Amino acid sequence: MLTTGSKKPASLYFHIPFCTKKCPYCHFFVVPDREDHKEQFMIALEREWNLVHKSLMGFDVVSIYFGGGTPSLLGPERIQTILEWIEKSGLPIAADCEITLEVNPENVTPSLMKDFRKAGINRVSLGLQSLDDTLLNILGRTHTASKSVQAVQATYDAGITNISVDLMFELPHQDVRAWESTLAQVQTLPITHLSLYNLVIEPNTPFHKKKKEISLHLPSQEICSQMLDMAVTMLESFGLKRYEISAFAKEGYESRHNTGYWRARPFLGLGPSAFSYFEGKRFQNIANLSKYCTLLEKGILPKDFEEELPYPQNLKELLAVELRLLQGVDLVEFEGRHAKLPQEMKDSITQLIEKGWLERDGDRIKLTSQGLLFYDSVAEEII
Ligand code: SF4
Repeated sequence: MLTTGSKKPASLYFHIPFCTKKCPYCHFFVVPDREDHKEQFMIALEREWNLVHKSLMGFDVVSIYFGGGTPSLLGPERIQTILEWIEKSGLPIAADCEITLEVNPENVTPSLMKDFRKAGINRVSLGLQSLDDTLLNILGRTHTASKSVQAVQATYDAGITNISVDLMFELPHQDVRAWESTLAQVQTLPITHLSLYNLVIEPNTPFHKKKKEISLHLPSQEICSQMLDMAVTMLESFGLKRYEISAFAKEGYESRHNTGYWRARPFLGLGPSAFSYFEGKRFQNIANLSKYCTLLEKGILPKDFEEELPYPQNLKELLAVELRLLQGVDLVEFEGRHAKLPQEMKDSITQLIEKGWLERDGDRIKLTSQGLLFYDSVAEEII
């Protein structure tokens, strides 16, 4: 049911866990891309959908996000099936609902992207990671830089013109010149959004086992900040404005879905390992495909954990996350949406202003350029 957006907004996230190969730095829950797994998954996902969707009835769904994993491996028909479940459920869907699909460049063909568009996808997020073949190889990626460029163009030509790309920096063997060359190529791509990630060597990954060796080839702290400065300057000169610590967008193309995460919009996550934030509670599904399927077969919600932070801890976390947005936080509006700030939070804000990490403009506080560099410390002080 299409709506005009007069109700409270909410979002939906679907974790589609299939990948053709696990990248050595990846810490997400993924499983091999097998047809029998996909069939089981779809049955379980529909069961989960039937159990949870009614809780969204009083909301307008303003964004739907297929993440993973590599959700495009599910194919246009199954994506369309999921979107039909949503439509048939009678859930209010905003007329301009943002419906994003994560795609890996190696899977893109013009006809596939046309089929995804027909299935209902209106935004694509492509995991380019780099436009340098040597670095892609180090990351264990199976696509090349030229395939990435073709994939963006094919997506655009298929009529999906709202395109985001992911890039990684602070990579082993990456130098300023390689980074500059990747950024320069971005200018030629018909994209509306870019997310920047620095490599984090997570536990339980092949990169973690080789951490010592990899660390020898990581760029220095100084080079990393130079790379970040370079990214901000070059991307802004291409019209991609930094609107969040690591996200850039053409005007009007800020990710509606991700902005919801930063501004505490309720969302339900479905699929193994998916997170949710709903009615002030955070919960996560079990990160195991067969247990996820078995529990749902028995009619049990596959939750792994659930927590509801007490006041004012909840407020501290919400403020720290929302400060990631460069526009900052209007404290009066924030208190209206959530609850009154306790004195201890007001004191931390004053101290952060005195340190030069936050600035105040009327009711609004936001990160200064120093605060942007030390966001982790700002968040720590608030929390
Ligand atoms: S494609 Fe993405 S989700 Fe899949 S293994 Fe690589 S990094 Fe992880």
